[in-house]
Amino acid sequence: MELDAQLNADLHCHSVVSDGTLTPEALAARAKAGGVQLWSLTDHDEIGGQQRALEAARAQGLAYLTGTEISVTFAGRVVHIVGLGFDHESPEMLEGLRTTRGGREARAREMAASLAGVGIEGAFEGALQYVGNPDLISRTHFARFLVDAGHCADVPEVFRRYLTEGKPGFVPHKWAALKDAVGWITRAGGIAVIAHPGRYDFTPTEEYALITEFIGHGGRGIEVVTGSHTAAEFAEYTDTALEFGLLASRGSDFHCPEESRVDLGALPPLASRLTPVWAELADRIHH
Ligand code: AMP
Ligand code: MN
Ligand code: MN
Ligand code: MN
Repeated sequence: MELDAQLNADLHCHSVVSDGTLTPEALAARAKAGGVQLWSLTDHDEIGGQQRALEAARAQGLAYLTGTEISVTFAGRVVHIVGLGFDHESPEMLEGLRTTRGGREARAREMAASLAGVGIEGAFEGALQYVGNPDLISRTHFARFLVDAGHCADVPEVFRRYLTEGKPGFVPHKWAALKDAVGWITRAGGIAVIAHPGRYDFTPTEEYALITEFIGHGGRGIEVVTGSHTAAEFAEYTDTALEFGLLASRGSDFHCPEESRVDLGALPPLASRLTPVWAELADRIHH
């Protein structure tokens, strides 16, 4: 396997262990069917699915990198940091993620109380019905409940009307610190990657601060081709990766066959002038 920019690597997706709807095994099969050559399961704040994903990938003859997507609070905003190729038994990583997950249930109860204030009753119990991992109740589970209960037509509409800053159901939350998330990943032998940078609505100054602080803490990668970016953003973040000397990553951010815009393995490749993150992770790949 040539670890170049052409490789069909999909290093970002979610299973029932966080807010996806498929099991790690079903995702491995779907990745294989979609032509993926190197895969990673990156559940939010949780690596409880890694052993299953690793074994399912092996059964499919699919190369695998361990993964996670850590929720970080940076400058009062939420930023996601993907970790790739780390030791999934690292005690420091396990403890850090456990702490990051803590408080999700209390937050969910507050979200439900806020929704009850606008006449939507039973949202906590409703969202729980969609949760695969009781430790990881997320806004996505609330969104699925609000759609199925007839409050909104689809998940994007839920996020436009509810659950986001200034809207009913939004509850601010303090996630991990950038320095800690990058440190857990790096000290466990992996590479930290800024997830979907185009999604944050940062000013150029704020984005510069994020990238330089991230690099200062030992972060080395950035997602360029992701299901969360437009084609114009693929080009924009190709330039960003080159400008800052960051390794480029690629991943669909697949959550659910009915919800996700991009399927596993279906994105265009990285530009050949980029250095892919997987070129630096050869010895971390499970075959
Ligand atoms: P949480 O970690 O509980 O704050 O939930 C964040 C998750 O909500 C993200 O990982 C996405 O899966 C989902 N999400 C956030 N914003 C949107 C949006 N505008 N449309 C669809 N899904 C979204
Ligand atoms: Mn998600
Ligand atoms: Mn994300
Ligand atoms: Mn994601």
